[in-house]
Order: sequence, then C-alpha cells, then structure tokens
Amino acid sequence: MKRNIVGFHLDEEGDWVAELDCYHGQHVRHAPPFIMRPWVTTEEGRQDKIGEALECVRCDALEFPEDLVPYKKTAEFTEITIPKGFQKDHSTKEGTWGVIKVLQGTLMYTVNYPTVVEHEIIAGQQGIIPPCLLHSVRAQGPVVFFVEFYSK
Ligand SMILES: [Zn+2]
Repeated sequence: MKRNIVGFHLDEEGDWVAELDCYHGQHVRHAPPFIMRPWVTTEEGRQDKIGEALECVRCDALEFPEDLVPYKKTAEFTEITIPKGFQKDHSTKEGTWGVIKVLQGTLMYTVNYPTVVEHEIIAGQQGIIPPCLLHSVRAQGPVVFFVEFYSK
C-alpha cells in the first residue's frame, strides 16, 4: 500500500531510512552509481520528501510494526453478536493497527489489498489489520474473538 513519509533517521550503518505513517521504515539509500538519491543526503532534500508516498510492502505482507502500544479493545464477540459493520468492508483510521484475537473456534478474515485474500484465523492465532486497509470478517461456525487496537 502507499504510505506517506513522515520523517527520516539514520540506521546503525549510516543509511537513511524513511519513516512512514504506518510506522514501518524503508531504506532510501544514496549509493551511486547503483541507486541515485542525492536528495537524501541533505536536510533540505529530505524535508522536500515529507508527505510523499512510498509503496510499503511490509504493510502488504501484514507485518506488524515494532514498539506499538495497545490502547483499546472491543468486547468479545461470537458468531451471533459479531457486528454487522465488521462483516462489510471497513478499515481502521490512519496510524491505527488492529489485531484480531480468536479465543475459540475459527474466524475468516478477508483483506482487499493488494488482492482479495481470505485468511482463516483459528483459536490462539491472530489476524493483523494494517491502518486504512479495507477488510471484513465472517464466522463459519462457533467463534469467540475480539479486536485490539494499537498505535504509537
Ligand atoms: Zn507499512
């Protein structure tokens, strides 16, 4: 998914990393003659790139970022009480990650990007919901689950 650059930092090797609004980082090296990004070597050049979008493959891979903090969770739902809104395409807001935690049974979790993929989450497992990613869930039988929300 496309994510906006919110800042930059240097990694341990002295390479520049763009910080994205999904909390993932992405290397933006200037390594001539192979990778030409002279702009990354100046403060002014980096400032110009704030707000620009990069493709984040780590979001596409449903990779949960490090160091996020849980701040809210839903009630526990079952196949009977699962909210209608959860069963249609919906998304979390910018900067909010969701983690679906299945306590009993099986929940089907569908993400709509980069392609429509349905994941089966069984008891004890969890499903990762990146910010702003359209998704839905459905019960296939008895299930107990809740969703916990994380941010920085
Ligand atoms: Zn990302």
